Amino acid sequence: MQIFALNKKTLVHASGAEKRKNYTCPECGAPVRLKSGTRRTSHFFHLGKNPTCRQSQKGLIHLRLQRYIQYLFEDENAELEKAFPEIGRIADVACLRSKRIYEVQYSPMTPEEAKGRCYDYESIGYQVIWILHDDTYNRRKTREAEQFLRTKTCYYTNMDKEGNGMIYDQLPLYGKRPINLRKYRPLPMHGWPNPLFSKGQTWSYYHEGDFFDLALHGQFPKPKKPFNPLKILREEYLDLLYKLLKKSCK
Ligand SMILES: [Zn+2]
Repeated sequence: MQIFALNKKTLVHASGAEKRKNYTCPECGAPVRLKSGTRRTSHFFHLGKNPTCRQSQKGLIHLRLQRYIQYLFEDENAELEKAFPEIGRIADVACLRSKRIYEVQYSPMTPEEAKGRCYDYESIGYQVIWILHDDTYNRRKTREAEQFLRTKTCYYTNMDKEGNGMIYDQLPLYGKRPINLRKYRPLPMHGWPNPLFSKGQTWSYYHEGDFFDLALHGQFPKPKKPFNPLKILREEYLDLLYKLLKKSCK
């Protein structure tokens, strides 16, 4: 689902489209139609499944996040689903003046796709800020694409279908920190603490509340105690022993 579609050659917003009329997906050229609810939820959907079209993979949470980010940068005239024909990409949210792209990622993707998108936008002078959803990312096992994206400016979100949730930065052993996406600055050269060292060489921006921001203000936290599987096993064993003893006493 998506918010814009083509009526012949004109881009139409879902809020101004007609029901039961065929429009065209600007990314893959397939027919799409309007599904309308309230103004906030109306969108276009593909008539047939098209796994190669990124627009067709978007779900409601993706749309919510896109709209939220656009709302945050309304004063910069942030554009939704902005097409960049010169590189054949459609950005989720684009701030043209400051050359920033916000890409929301809910579904899994290949490392090639992640790299391709970064390089394409960088080739026309844009920096991408990634917002990965923790239904798919920030799990116990880090995906290959995610490993690459962590070398770029990349945050996570837990926003749900109703639009509740936060955008946050995270570091293993240091937990999650909500960030203020509106307050951003180019990342300066700095003597970063060890967990930030490699990211400090490749990130383009930092945001209010993220770990770079904390380090710059002398508030970088202490690590939490690492997860100890042996301790948990011992506790489970003692628990079981206690239950067995209790049973035998009955
Ligand atoms: Zn499409």
